[in-house]
Amino acid sequence: MHFDIVIVGGGAGGLELAARLGRQLGKRQGRERVLLIDKFSFHIWKPTLHEVAAGTLDAHQEGLSYTVLARRNHFSFTLGELTALDTERQSLTLAPLCNDRGEEIVPERTVSYQRLVLALGSGSNAFGTPGIEHAYLLENVRDAQRFHADWLHACAHAAFADSHALSVAIVGAGATGVELSAELLEAHAELQDSMSTNQRFRLDIQLLEGGDRILGGLPPRISEQATLALQRRQVQVLTSTRVLALHPGRLETTAGDIPADLIVWAAGIKAADTNARLGLTVNRLNQFVVDDHLRTSASHVLALGDCAACPWEDGKTVPARAQAAHQQASYLAKVLHAFLQQGEHSAPFVYRDFGSLVSLGDNAGVGNLMGGLSGRNFFVQGLLAKWMYMSLHLNHHRAILGTTKTVVLALARLLQTRVSGRLKLH
Ligand SMILES: Cc1cc2nc3c(=O)[nH]c(=O)nc-3n(C[C@H](O)[C@H](O)[C@H](O)COP(=O)(O)OP(=O)(O)OC[C@H]3O[C@@H](n4cnc5c(N)ncnc54)[C@H](O)[C@@H]3O)c2cc1C
Repeated sequence: MHFDIVIVGGGAGGLELAARLGRQLGKRQGRERVLLIDKFSFHIWKPTLHEVAAGTLDAHQEGLSYTVLARRNHFSFTLGELTALDTERQSLTLAPLCNDRGEEIVPERTVSYQRLVLALGSGSNAFGTPGIEHAYLLENVRDAQRFHADWLHACAHAAFADSHALSVAIVGAGATGVELSAELLEAHAELQDSMSTNQRFRLDIQLLEGGDRILGGLPPRISEQATLALQRRQVQVLTSTRVLALHPGRLETTAGDIPADLIVWAAGIKAADTNARLGLTVNRLNQFVVDDHLRTSASHVLALGDCAACPWEDGKTVPARAQAAHQQASYLAKVLHAFLQQGEHSAPFVYRDFGSLVSLGDNAGVGNLMGGLSGRNFFVQGLLAKWMYMSLHLNHHRAILGTTKTVVLALARLLQTRVSGRLKLH
């Protein structure tokens, strides 16, 4: 199989890139020249995984099928997992596809390319903590669904246990940990509303952070407001507390032992160990080291999003955020479109930080917006921040579905939520 452009990873960045290129090339050319590969058959925007985990978002309703997106945006799609790369021959290998019983359905395949884009995302960083297997991770939709099923079982257990309490420890108070805490509170409140008084149970959330404040990567004012909002809702925020080891039902920390029915690990990011075996230069987080044109150590292989370490300001690299993946996808769409037209787009990639927004549940958020009309840094909170947060998700949908379909989908989901409620118990 040969394609001019092969993109591996249909997440926040890779899918937007495939959709843009496919649409630019049109019905006739796009499908023949651009191939997207992903190990899952449907796409879900990763910043919504904490909602899937809490059950306030249904992954089956939210998920968009890659085959439908490929048809609509005029690119080709293949289901498969990248396992090897031959940069000399400009070809990659996909693992055999197997069914649930482990029987092979499609054998190992090779795909050759002129330009390859790696958009493989990242996972959690366990920092070598012993007992990490006792924690839930939130790396993909399967992880989120697994947590959701066990969270529901734990809720059912707590409703009938003598203690009438459920304790959840979340390790890492970045955006994922903070947003998950808020979403679990929402889910718990909705559950309580459906229960008789003698079944109601208490939810104790402990949010543990090794640094001296939560949301350490964001301005201190955001950390303060988010801390207050969580504490008002009885979340116990433990900063400067490092986790030393995990055990079934308890965490060993620098502040002593903490019991927990469920433990979620949301601390740090690290790309897949397999990245280091692809023959490209990687950093200590297994991210592909790229230059300011997003070229890896093999110049015909490009990388974007969380899996790429791209130079930014003050010796830092571009942060692993959806907005960075989005900007890099827009940049590479120009580079690759020019390449396909035998031209060149020589300008380097420049990351613009537009600020950050963090969701604090159904009707609340907090964040800062950079730039604006006067170039100042704005602090936003409450419903306005939440709406802005939701608009990021809509923007992503607009990039892959177009404006009309995004509006129709948003309205349909709003109506669906009004009719059948936000909380999914299945
Ligand atoms: C719970 C949560 C909340 C977040 N909230 C925010 C937020 O509010 N704002 C923000 O800016 N960012 C947020 N992020 C971070 C954001 O999701 C990522 O920065 C963004 O998704 C990165 O995009 P990407 O395209 O690099 O990778 P991803 O979106 O992770 O996509 C990677 C894709 O590659 C595929 N893949 C991986 N390995 C292979 C392989 N070997 N073969 C084939 N396919 C493969 C995966 O299936 C996936 O589809 C959040 C993350 C999480 C987990």
